[in-house]
Amino acid sequence: MKKAAIIGAGIGGIAAAIRLVVKGYEVTVFEANESFGGKMHEFWLGKYRFDAGPSLFTLPHLVDELFELAGREPSAYFSYTRLDPITHYFWPDGSRLKAYAAADKFAEEAEQQLGVPKQDVLQALAKSARLYKGTAGTFLQKSLHKASTYLSPDVLKTLTCLPDLGLTTTMHKANAKQFQDQRMVQLLDRFATYNGSDPYQAPGTLNIIPHLEHNIGAFYPKGGMYAIANSLVKLAEELGVAFRYKEPVEQIITLSGKVMGVQTGNGNYNADVVVSNMDVVPTYRRLLPNHPAPEQTLKQPRSSSALIYYWGIKGLFPELHLHNIFFSGNYKEEFEHIFRRKTISPDPTVYLNITSKMEPQDAPEGCENWFVMVNVPHDEGQDWDKLIAVTRETVLNKLSLMLGTDIAPLIEQEKVLDPLLIESRTSSFAGALYGSSSNSRMAAFLRHPNFSSAIDGLYFCGGSVHPGGGIPLCLLSARIMGDLVPDATRKQGV
Ligand SMILES: Cc1cc2nc3c(=O)[nH]c(=O)nc-3n(C[C@H](O)[C@H](O)[C@H](O)COP(=O)(O)OP(=O)(O)OC[C@H]3O[C@@H](n4cnc5c(N)ncnc54)[C@H](O)[C@@H]3O)c2cc1C
Repeated sequence: MKKAAIIGAGIGGIAAAIRLVVKGYEVTVFEANESFGGKMHEFWLGKYRFDAGPSLFTLPHLVDELFELAGREPSAYFSYTRLDPITHYFWPDGSRLKAYAAADKFAEEAEQQLGVPKQDVLQALAKSARLYKGTAGTFLQKSLHKASTYLSPDVLKTLTCLPDLGLTTTMHKANAKQFQDQRMVQLLDRFATYNGSDPYQAPGTLNIIPHLEHNIGAFYPKGGMYAIANSLVKLAEELGVAFRYKEPVEQIITLSGKVMGVQTGNGNYNADVVVSNMDVVPTYRRLLPNHPAPEQTLKQPRSSSALIYYWGIKGLFPELHLHNIFFSGNYKEEFEHIFRRKTISPDPTVYLNITSKMEPQDAPEGCENWFVMVNVPHDEGQDWDKLIAVTRETVLNKLSLMLGTDIAPLIEQEKVLDPLLIESRTSSFAGALYGSSSNSRMAAFLRHPNFSSAIDGLYFCGGSVHPGGGIPLCLLSARIMGDLVPDATRKQGV
């Protein structure tokens, strides 16, 4: 039986394991940590449960399709509900808006709360949908590094919407051209952060992202985000995938330009196919030290990272929902701080996620589990202890002011995650959340491919390679990788 070794049990690695076991491989996943999930893990602080990393779930069919691929009924393992409203937005001037799931209702709310013409919102969402439909087949669902991609009918679709793609403008400029209201522009610019980018630099093409949330929908997995990883690992184990925890891969073994297997502290493991779900930078630097690395690709600027305060809050806030955004007063300044000055703005936008709104058992009675996140630069040697302390005060002042309640005395449990911890726990280079940023027109083409052209049998999946970071894109990276790996049952040369 042909063997596949997967390095890392992040969401990309788990999806890759399922795809390859279905293709007939004997699959072993090597994970450095004591359990699976990578950035997607959960933990308890006293009686409060927290999802440590991702909190927004889009394109759930990409999870369902893994169960279907294995001939299983997805709902027997995993279920989710469509959110409505999706997000509660708060601005420093006191205005508030609920982003409803239905486009019409969302547009009506924008007209009522912000005075933005309803028709303009509907037009922006329709444009986002056109962009997505015109580009997804080419940019998100296939390898950009295979000639066959450019011969597919999807390329024609992309070419027909070329004038609309926004390649010659930025996300912000495109949004500012569409709306006069700065709050609406800010709301749409925020989607750049979904892949760790800067709306003032990223191409207008990224305005496809609102389509995912507002037209297709945002969802909540029953049991929290961790349920995604948990249910997929259950499936993988049933299919025979072996998970070896606390066994970091130390080297990818190669011979004459072909993978032979992996080396761990426990010895060598032979494999016909090796898939790295580890960030691509340390994959080359640590696991392939004797091979030339694709320096141009590895030098691409990293995405932003995050600073998270997990707070167990003694109190209930009925005006808050699962997803809440407290915007900064000057968005341009905020991104200037993150991407150019490489520090945290003194007035950051604060994202507040509260899963106990959906699952009351995630917090004790009369309490809420607050996941309070600020976008920050990736690590470049900043004084994180100082930034964590200063930003904590800023965030507390901001939330206390905007919610009209002194928050600090309500915190009864606390833990912090910063870029250094993100890197040390998952080997994500510089603690970047999404690999490289998408701040240039060429960024999509400069991500590492899902295969190695120098080493036969070596493949890549996960947030640092094509098509990018975020749960849906990691799942797509595993799908693209799976399409490239030959069936284990197919005879060589046939
Ligand atoms: C705070 C935060 C908030 C986020 N919010 C969202 C969100 O709301 N929505 C969304 O879609 N995405 C979000 N993301 C991004 C999302 O979590 C990631 O894109 C995704 O989880 C990355 O998965 P991955 O498969 O690339 O691998 P990772 O999760 O990075 O896992 C890689 C795994 O490989 C293991 N590993 C590394 N090196 C080795 C080795 N040598 N040997 C063995 N194992 C190794 C690591 O231990 C780790 O378990 C967020 C991320 C963070 C951190």
